[in-house]
Amino acid sequence: MIKFLDLKAINHDVRDELLAACTRVIDSGWYIAGSELQNFEQAFSEYCGTKHCIGVANGLDALSLTLRAWKEMGKLKKGDEVIVPANTYIASVLAITENDLVPVLVEPNSATYNLSADHVERAITAKTKVLLPVHLYGLLADMPALISLAKKHKLLILEDSAQAHGASHKGKKAGAWGDASGFSFYPGKNLGALGDGGAITTDDDELAQVLRALRNYGSHEKYQNLYRGVNSRLDELQAALLLVKLKYLETQVRQRREIVKIYLQGIKNPEITLPYTEGNDIMALEGHVWHLFVIRTPYREELKKHLEAHGIQTLIHYPIPVHKQKAYAEWSDISLPLTEIIHKEVLSLPLGPTMSQDEALKVVSACNSFSYIGAA
Ligand SMILES: *Cc1c(COP(=O)(O)O)cnc(C)c1O
Repeated sequence: MIKFLDLKAINHDVRDELLAACTRVIDSGWYIAGSELQNFEQAFSEYCGTKHCIGVANGLDALSLTLRAWKEMGKLKKGDEVIVPANTYIASVLAITENDLVPVLVEPNSATYNLSADHVERAITAKTKVLLPVHLYGLLADMPALISLAKKHKLLILEDSAQAHGASHKGKKAGAWGDASGFSFYPGKNLGALGDGGAITTDDDELAQVLRALRNYGSHEKYQNLYRGVNSRLDELQAALLLVKLKYLETQVRQRREIVKIYLQGIKNPEITLPYTEGNDIMALEGHVWHLFVIRTPYREELKKHLEAHGIQTLIHYPIPVHKQKAYAEWSDISLPLTEIIHKEVLSLPLGPTMSQDEALKVVSACNSFSYIGAA
């Protein structure tokens, strides 16, 4: 069986170091807001190339607390609009509605599946205050174009970097482009904790200070509460584990890329659309960290079954678009044809740093032997 992602194998490779980190935390007697968190925050901000990193409990909180902080700072108010890709994971949108802000769902670029500047520009109104690009599947959105739009219209940019640790364009990493960026360390992400975790990166001193308070009951100093904050902290144990795993992130991205090369060169089936690569040049996508390898086919259910029959596990990211979720029943009449077709057709092939070339070749040949025969 070729697993979609073998988390056990990934963590097993660094088991001794993870155990040493656990032992260090257990023996320290200090479990919240200590030196492990500080060390991880420093290491991760250095890695991303930002001045600050603020650890929080998860990726959703990273996004949500940043919007909340901007409200506390007077940069946003209830009812302001936030432009977000319609084909994102629901967390990007929940962060907006949680703050009584209004998500404006925009269709993605049909090739990259990321937010495109033309679609964004058409969606900008007098109420627009924030752009929330998602670096979907590990590919950086078109940040230079989005930044020039943001400058022109005086908008803030919050990157959703939950799938894009280390993704870059011309050497500048995800997390360093926007006014702030939210990361998730959910176990299955490219940089995954052994539980939940998240962080915000930013160069803005004031924002960093407000976020540090918001994540901790709104308090800078014990028993003095400036804001009605929340409890959303990255604990010492997860911070210590993440510090270990951060050292291996670049190597693991290279390992992912080796599998991707095999897929891109080997999969040749007219019924399967491969992910976007600039001019079909794999090396042109140096900055892509390949969190997911997402193909498209009109025969998704059939292909999924065919791959299963060949012992290959696949997943769907994501089967139902946000505007068709019951949670947002008021949007059920909105029509976003490209987003809807993407959700009908996408399928994520197995991809991870511990996958072997042999396994990748098996996936390639199973994809190539698929043909949709049968009554339409
Ligand atoms: C995983 C993910 C999140 C949420 O992260 P959690 O840590 O699970 O809360 C947000 N946005 C995107 C695009 C994600 O993939």
